[in-house]
Amino acid sequence: MRDAQKTDIKSLSLEQLQKEMTDMGEKPFRAKQIYRWMHVRLARSFDEMTDLSRELREKCKAAYSYTCLEQIRMQESKLDGTRKYLFRLCDGNLVESVWMKYRHGNSVCISSQVGCRMGCRFCASTLDGLERNLTPSEMLDQVYAIQLSTGERVSNVVVMGTGEPLDNYDNLLIFLRMLTDGNGLNISQRNVTVSTCGLVPKMRELAEQHLQITLALSLHATTDEKRRELMPIAKQYSIRELMEACRYYFEQTGRRITFEYSLVGGVNDTNRDAEELSALAGPLGCHVNLIPVNPIKERDYVQSEGARIRAFQNKLEKNKINGTIRREMGRDIDGACGQLRRRILESSKAPDALQDIGGSSAW
Ligand code: SAH
Repeated sequence: MRDAQKTDIKSLSLEQLQKEMTDMGEKPFRAKQIYRWMHVRLARSFDEMTDLSRELREKCKAAYSYTCLEQIRMQESKLDGTRKYLFRLCDGNLVESVWMKYRHGNSVCISSQVGCRMGCRFCASTLDGLERNLTPSEMLDQVYAIQLSTGERVSNVVVMGTGEPLDNYDNLLIFLRMLTDGNGLNISQRNVTVSTCGLVPKMRELAEQHLQITLALSLHATTDEKRRELMPIAKQYSIRELMEACRYYFEQTGRRITFEYSLVGGVNDTNRDAEELSALAGPLGCHVNLIPVNPIKERDYVQSEGARIRAFQNKLEKNKINGTIRREMGRDIDGACGQLRRRILESSKAPDALQDIGGSSAW
């Protein structure tokens, strides 16, 4: 359980844990043992750490909180095997995560916040605003829970679920370091992607960390005017400032930025938009991910026609821009960000609705 008074042990780095152990009068190697139980063997409680003395386990229980997610629901797509998980956090909040199986490995998409305050018009995650940030351990737990549930190694992690990761910057950085730490799951930094709506100062700070992760920028429009209509954050940072931050990220890390571009029918999908997008992506050597917008019932945005999407991609190709139409994974299982959590929260307002959740199991 998470207890606000106690230190969240799963969010501590190995060095911090070593100090904790010595302060407790324990040998420093105990830290490595516990770290391994938490981050490699994915133990769900101190009681699973059978090579620690009972006394030490009790001492740990008294001193630390141990986060665990409770699986509330899992939906598997009949179309492509994508799985969407809904987890309950210790304080009762709900987060969703997605598991996708690709030829190159298994990818997990995690949430970084409960809700979001960025207000992007087409996104379901932001409709009720921000509830709170996730801790590093709660971000790790999503990956761990899914690896335990599927029994398959997770090779890629994308921070593209609910929330704006750079709005939870400090916890995100701790999470990234622990996820890619050789003493933990040891996921290659190159297999980690963080997606942002474009918080320019934080993009620059992240660049200075010199991580080998991929930064994805949710661009979605090629003029400030249009972007402001879709994304309130565009009122704070212009596309010019964004492009400068992208260039800086590339200079500092050697990693090319990916642009995310959700195609919204009649809004940002003309040939002219494709030309302007090419002009932005070309000089930076960006890869463009085209995402047919996933309509949410609260807004009346529609997907571009299939032929329009292909024409848009062709235009990019002619301009030598690499553009991939993102396969729509899990369309039949509330695939769009925040849809599942929202549906369950809405239904839970009705009496007895939680019974509908079923399949509950702690992991
Ligand atoms: N806050 C971060 C990450 C979360 S959203 C960001 O803005 O990048 C992950 C991606 O999905 C973003 O590109 C976001 O704009 C996009 N997205 C959100 N809702 C969508 C929807 N209904 N259809 C298509 N893309 C959507």
